[in-house]
Amino acid sequence: MPLIIDSHQDIAWNMVAHGRDYTRPLSETRRIEVGTTIPERNGDATAGWHEYQRGQVAVIFSTLYATPAKSKELGDIHIYKDYNTAHRLYRDQIDIYRRLADSHPDKFRLISSKPELDSVIENWSQPQTDPASTHPVGLIYLMEGADGIRSPHELSEWWDLGLRMIGLAWAGTRYCGGTGEPGPLTDEGRQLIAAMADYNFILDLSHMDVAAAVESLDRYEGPVMASHANCAALMKGSESNRHIPDHVIRGLIERDGVIGVIPFNTFLKVGWVRAKGSRREEVPLDVLIAHIDHICQLAGNADHVGIGSDFDGGFGLQSIPSELDSIADLQIIGSKLIARGYTESDTANVLGGNWLRFLRRNLPS
Ligand SMILES: [Zn+2]
Repeated sequence: MPLIIDSHQDIAWNMVAHGRDYTRPLSETRRIEVGTTIPERNGDATAGWHEYQRGQVAVIFSTLYATPAKSKELGDIHIYKDYNTAHRLYRDQIDIYRRLADSHPDKFRLISSKPELDSVIENWSQPQTDPASTHPVGLIYLMEGADGIRSPHELSEWWDLGLRMIGLAWAGTRYCGGTGEPGPLTDEGRQLIAAMADYNFILDLSHMDVAAAVESLDRYEGPVMASHANCAALMKGSESNRHIPDHVIRGLIERDGVIGVIPFNTFLKVGWVRAKGSRREEVPLDVLIAHIDHICQLAGNADHVGIGSDFDGGFGLQSIPSELDSIADLQIIGSKLIARGYTESDTANVLGGNWLRFLRRNLPS
């Protein structure tokens, strides 16, 4: 079974917003949440540590995420009204990840360099001879929305904390237009990415408006990727600017980037909204496979697409394709690709190999 590298999970946000504990098996989290408001607010949980093991989820891009006060649809927890608060909330999440890894070194390890990545992967490559022995999951920080960076001078501090990946937008930020708030890079955004290039930060184009993404592809000298985004070409009729058009996908491919597709029904079927009674049976996993295939067709190979599940990130079991029950089931994507004629090696690359190569190329040694 190939290793999975999942390029997007809001683990710290789930821990603070919903009190979730990712050292538990998923069944326990679901049991504990019965009768609470969490399944209604965020959907039933889909990730847990035992499921990471079962699905061979070896590495996760784990986000630093807080919600701007202007967009409260994710509830009123972990909200920022000003940049100092955003900064503090993001810093708190780094502390959360550090405590998680410090108190459970057998379960989670932080990765901020190539040797640390290689050590996690090496461990996963060892056969699990003793049933009690485990493979620690590697976590790499990804800042989703850069409002927590108060000025480019702060980048050295964030770098020293282990941050390696930054997305400028969620909704629009002062750095650029974002989801639901179109707009280009601002002058502050241009200054920030110029400074990011000095450190070789990885720039995440997800959530950035098209104008800002196109300019960033042109301007940013460091590595670029999209941690969690689907293809606009397959979402015709959607009014959202959340999906990436082909010319941005081509730009990412030319820059040797990778795009993590999201198994989230709202981003797979136009008009699918859980709150309006849409059912998960309406979106089979094949729809996600079509997004993977679309990126492969644009690239002429299977080297630029991965999976950015975003599981538990504001949606849950009720909003993912019908064949999936948990994060472990991302392996079914592999079976679907094989059935569609993808080779075993291309399939392994989509599940994890493409992100692994991308990280090995772009993390500091
Ligand atoms: Zn997101």
